[in-house]
Amino acid sequence: RIVMATVKGDVHDIGKNIVGVVLGCNNYEVIDLGVMVPCEQILDTALEREAHLIGLSGLITPSLDEMVHVAREMKRRGLELPLLIGGATTSRQHTAVKIAPEYEPPTVHVLDASRAVGVVSDLLDAGRRGPFAAQNRADQEQLRETYGGRRERALLPYPVARERRLALDWRAEDLPEPAFLGRRLLAEAPLAEIARYIDWTFFFLAWELKGKFPKILEHPRYGAAARELYENGRALLEEILGTRTIRGAGVYGFWPANRQGDDVVLWADPRRSAEVARFPMLRQQRDPGAGKPTLSLADFVAPVESGLVDHVGAFAVTAGIGADELAARYERDHDDYHAIMVKALADRLAEAFAEWLHERVRREWGYGGDEALGLEDLLRERYRGIRPAYGYPACPDHTEKWRLFELLEAPEAGVTLTEHCAMVPAASVSGLYFAHPQARYFTVGKIDRDQVADYAARKGMSVAEVERWLRPNLGYEPEAPGA
Ligand code: SAH
Repeated sequence: RIVMATVKGDVHDIGKNIVGVVLGCNNYEVIDLGVMVPCEQILDTALEREAHLIGLSGLITPSLDEMVHVAREMKRRGLELPLLIGGATTSRQHTAVKIAPEYEPPTVHVLDASRAVGVVSDLLDAGRRGPFAAQNRADQEQLRETYGGRRERALLPYPVARERRLALDWRAEDLPEPAFLGRRLLAEAPLAEIARYIDWTFFFLAWELKGKFPKILEHPRYGAAARELYENGRALLEEILGTRTIRGAGVYGFWPANRQGDDVVLWADPRRSAEVARFPMLRQQRDPGAGKPTLSLADFVAPVESGLVDHVGAFAVTAGIGADELAARYERDHDDYHAIMVKALADRLAEAFAEWLHERVRREWGYGGDEALGLEDLLRERYRGIRPAYGYPACPDHTEKWRLFELLEAPEAGVTLTEHCAMVPAASVSGLYFAHPQARYFTVGKIDRDQVADYAARKGMSVAEVERWLRPNLGYEPEAPGA
């Protein structure tokens, strides 16, 4: 009997639900507490129902810390059940270095659903549990040696990193003018049209079938499974689009903008009479090598000193309105397969919505009008400009979504944030738009104390709190780790 939950502050559960189905099919009793589940509820349920294992899931980086918290609580309350860890940002390394040291009994990272049954059966078999736990412990010890004590490569002092920024040439004639300024609401997204932008490769990935679409349909080993999944997915998609049981909405806009230091400042109007928002950006501090710049998203916006008015855009879209209700209806009918399928399709539609909207934005910005890109080109992002999303490597600070959502008044489009900055509905995408031809995705990576202090001041947040949210990016051990 296993108690499973997506941790507090996180709403992603496709992977967890697949694991649940697989375990259920193998005669384990699964008590699935759903998403955004507080630690106490997980532990209380495990004790009350005399569970044999606990499984935690999460997708966004703040969930990693929440899992550490749950492990600590398990120890404090004297639990002895094995703890399983899974989900997109979790890893063997993180589990070994940060979670396992908090909790004696076996704490095991489970890479995907296909491994879950093996791990669970080993842990519940009186004979195999000991050797399995010993091996797990030894592997984790090894990982701690490799990653835990690893000396980080020296980081550049933040002032040096700032000096080595990407220095672009700024000329008025290179700065396109958006067709409108401010925000616009898309109250009803044309999902049928948007569905044509779906990247099906990621649909299969959600089901843990790795391979490029459409080639995957002919895969020698799992082509048949892929074809069946595709047929069922297509059928449900048609039904959803026909009956409009799932709806989409979004909001996006353009603002006059400039870089100021490492901030991107958005102005109320082209005369720059007032600031409407200021997004503090992070900068790479690892030495990229001679002649190479240390990047920040701020570098892709014309600096105030240039005297030019540049622009940036922002967006938040969802294709998940009604998705949870529809999934719940299938769950009530004990149709887990379609319940998961609904969520996987809603995710696909949300990503497709982002791609569709970005194409429209490039046109409205005045530089994308003569693009002649097929779907494959779009999905490979072979166009000018980027749409970095908070939580991803160029802008890893999830909490900036608060600012973004306020700017966009995103709740009017039906999108909100949890206390850990996961978007609700789960099938939502948000981010900023940069138009510069050289704008590209990159990884901020490890940052040092000096930048964290500066960033915290610019952001109006305490250093300790910034350190908590940006833990995976810290190139040093913070003063008071934990809680
Ligand atoms: N087409 C895929 C999803 C695209 S993922 C699908 O259908 O699921 C690519 C998106 O992730 C980008 O458009 C951008 O929003 C974000 N992204 C990728 N790398 C990033 C980085 N380094 N920094 C910020 N955002 C990034």
